[in-house]
Amino acid sequence: MPMSQSFKDRLFPILPQLAAHYGTPFHIYDEAGIRATGEELNKAFSGIPGFREYYAVKALPNRSILEIMYDLGFGFDCSSIPELILSRQVGARGEDIMFTSNNTSLEEYNFAEADGGCVLNLDDISLIAKVPQFPDLISFRYNPGPRRTGNIIIGNPVEAKYGVAHEQLVDAYRLSRERGTTRFGLHTMVASNERDYTYIVETARMLLDLTALVKAELGIELEFVNIGGGLGIPYRPEQEALNLAAMAKEITALFDEFRSANGFAPKMLMESGRFITGPHGCLVTTAINAKQTYRNYVGVDACMSSLMRPALYDAYHHIDVLGKENLPKSETYDVVGSLCENNDKFAVQRELPPIVDGDILVIHDTGAHGHAMGFQYNGRLRPMELLLRTDGTVELIRRAETVEDYFVTYNFTPDLFVPSGE
Ligand SMILES: *Cc1c(COP(=O)(O)O)cnc(C)c1O
Repeated sequence: MPMSQSFKDRLFPILPQLAAHYGTPFHIYDEAGIRATGEELNKAFSGIPGFREYYAVKALPNRSILEIMYDLGFGFDCSSIPELILSRQVGARGEDIMFTSNNTSLEEYNFAEADGGCVLNLDDISLIAKVPQFPDLISFRYNPGPRRTGNIIIGNPVEAKYGVAHEQLVDAYRLSRERGTTRFGLHTMVASNERDYTYIVETARMLLDLTALVKAELGIELEFVNIGGGLGIPYRPEQEALNLAAMAKEITALFDEFRSANGFAPKMLMESGRFITGPHGCLVTTAINAKQTYRNYVGVDACMSSLMRPALYDAYHHIDVLGKENLPKSETYDVVGSLCENNDKFAVQRELPPIVDGDILVIHDTGAHGHAMGFQYNGRLRPMELLLRTDGTVELIRRAETVEDYFVTYNFTPDLFVPSGE
């Protein structure tokens, strides 16, 4: 199922009022749903001592959402300076933050290490010589290469720019120890939107095998393994949800076995984005044009600046037409935005009830990699974000961009360079 029945039941009755009060388009997120999923995750892995989720900030980088995450006990997975700032704005410091960057500049490392620092998760062995202040706790991102087939979405690990190769991993820990580090972690990210939980169990097994390898080669006991994000959600009504309970049970058993066999076990960390917030957000937009040419088009007041996934990945996002949920889907539409790009379509040849101008469309599952991926191409601006609080009130948690925002980068001190000419 896409959006939960509970979210629908609480949202749909007030949507006409919300549309009148705030205008459309907007993304709206469900605090109750986010909290329920977060608590479900914490509970599922409570059998692994020290389990912690580091929310992948890039999925929904909104301060009010991160406050909820921090309240759930989560840390933050960041990979840029603005993401570090955002995490610190909600109070995260030090080991609350994992900096999983790649192709990182020294400026970024300096920023990451200032203001209480964070856990550095290095993407390459060459960085051991480059990190300005080598920390006491270091983690490496592992790329299994041909040892693992990536899932369809993330692609083949051999072609991925990320991570340390298998043959480099032991050396990476050895060199780090030579630089004075005493605490170590291990990370990988080999799946994206994966609903087959057994794939994630295999990732945990792979990281535990490597933990044993590092212990055997160097005597180092890794403090944590981070299985990455990539837990999938069903975007289509007929798709099954990932079986979190079964996954947690099998992974917990792997950790228990490892502990009995080795006399220690690392903590398990995770950095899910989509799974935590994806289903708990939707994009609300109004039909403003109907066009009949070779196909039937419904033009809405949002466009791909609000949600890139359909254009970028041909991704399916379920659509409800408010008040017409139970009518027969007797029409076939392309639901389109206003960008001068033909892939600016929220749905292609979708069966929907008849739509007229003024109808409110709810595009499901925009709580992760939705607003966050937006852009300003073609002078199209990003919409506002709202939060449906657990008490039923609705709060504006980020305003829509304005034309002034679009022009703000023209406010600068004139700077003309005249080459000296030799
Ligand atoms: C994007 C990303 C995530 C989150 O991925 P989801 O599919 O949203 O769970 C986690 N870790 C890293 C390193 C990422 O780049």
